[in-house]
Amino acid sequence: MTNESWGQVREGLIKRVGKNNYVTWIEPLRLAGLKNGVARFEVPTTFFGDWVLRNFGDQIRLQLTQSGESVDRVEFAVGNGNQPAPETRPAAKPAPQRARAELTDVLPGGPLDSRFTFDSFVVGKPNELAHAAARRVAEGGPVTFNPLFLYGGVGLGKTHLMHAIAHELQAKSGDLRVLYLSAEQFMYRFVQALRERQVMDFKELFRSVDVLMVDDVQFIAGKDSTQEEFFHTFNALVDQNKQIVISADRAPGEIKDLEERIKSRLQCGLVVDLHPTDYELRLGILQQKVDYYRQQYQGLVLADGVLEFLAHRITTNVRVLEGALTRLFAFASLVGREITLDLAQDCLADILRASDRKLTIEEIQRRVADYYNIRLSDMIGPKRLRNIARPRQVAMFLSKQLTTRSLPEIGRRFGGRDHTTIMHGVRKIEELKSTESQLADDLLLLRRLLQG
Ligand code: ADP
Ligand code: MG
Repeated sequence: MTNESWGQVREGLIKRVGKNNYVTWIEPLRLAGLKNGVARFEVPTTFFGDWVLRNFGDQIRLQLTQSGESVDRVEFAVGNGNQPAPETRPAAKPAPQRARAELTDVLPGGPLDSRFTFDSFVVGKPNELAHAAARRVAEGGPVTFNPLFLYGGVGLGKTHLMHAIAHELQAKSGDLRVLYLSAEQFMYRFVQALRERQVMDFKELFRSVDVLMVDDVQFIAGKDSTQEEFFHTFNALVDQNKQIVISADRAPGEIKDLEERIKSRLQCGLVVDLHPTDYELRLGILQQKVDYYRQQYQGLVLADGVLEFLAHRITTNVRVLEGALTRLFAFASLVGREITLDLAQDCLADILRASDRKLTIEEIQRRVADYYNIRLSDMIGPKRLRNIARPRQVAMFLSKQLTTRSLPEIGRRFGGRDHTTIMHGVRKIEELKSTESQLADDLLLLRRLLQG
């Protein structure tokens, strides 16, 4: 097959994949050879190749077959000319280069991470609402809430959900113009358009999409002209009944230096937050990832309890959790050892140390007061009634056990009590917990609440 006839086959793919996908993913492919039923293509990056294989591999094969070639398989390899540095986070790579003239017709979003799908998203209590809302948007159909506003702390799955929506919508209809980009990219494009006097093109482009997704919108806070433009784009799309999905690290009302009118616009749709992960969700995510690693590193043995240990100890964010698992498997395969608790503790010492939560005495007092339904002020105050004194002693006991504070320091935080009073309280609880099973249960539960 010649490059010329590939050119024709390629054109035939426009209908199959849509203009947008065509320009972004198909046009840059260079046919490197077709032998023994295998069509080989050169691609600019590994990620690019994976993406095309996963999303358009079958269509390319079909189109080739229809043109009379016998092709059982398509393969993608990075071309010699443009070998990239090894990539770890494909999503961070810039979009493949395109000719300038085509830019106005192509959506300027970054490529989507092919791993961020609904299939790979583990659903648990903390994220079930956000997940359900994202699913609804991904169904397409009439817009029921606009925008969908997803917010939550770092690494809780906002970007993952947005990419999943884009994948799903694009799979349903290749012609749908879905634009995903970070607020930073939005600003960058806008500033570039200003500089090159192409603001009209910019406006037209953004108003021509069917679905707009802007990630990490908190970024444009305080950036006045970008906010202004964002506001107009937003309104224009809402007026046309086009779906908008926005994410941020906090609720709309809490983003500082964001114009009031934008805040209130953002609150008009459905605002859902991703809560911090809980133990079950973390374990679920680890189990899912492990299935993948088991295939990659065959023969590695994973001892019981390691995943549970990680889910229990690494509570900060999912990215850190994944990083820990990656490192653990890589390390174990390197040294050829079984993945045990000891190995995990060695190899992840820094991560484990960093995610050791520093509990404060105030937190303990608050939790214990809540638990026993007494006022926080009574925890510190002088009342000696038993239904107050006992919870107070529990809080003293837990403060001694769960923090590194000394008795005098604890005393100061309990309304300036003497260290001997604290010692007495701690001993009292120690005594009672072996005889009163209710108290023992309370302590267990409180400990779990406090340590996450
Ligand atoms: P955010 O955008 O909220 O900072 P990301 O979407 O980038 O977070 O998620 C960070 C990492 O954690 C990604 O690799 C993502 O796949 C993973 N992740 C987060 N939540 C989940 C989940 N519920 N199931 C599977 N992976 C998840
Ligand atoms: Mg993100």
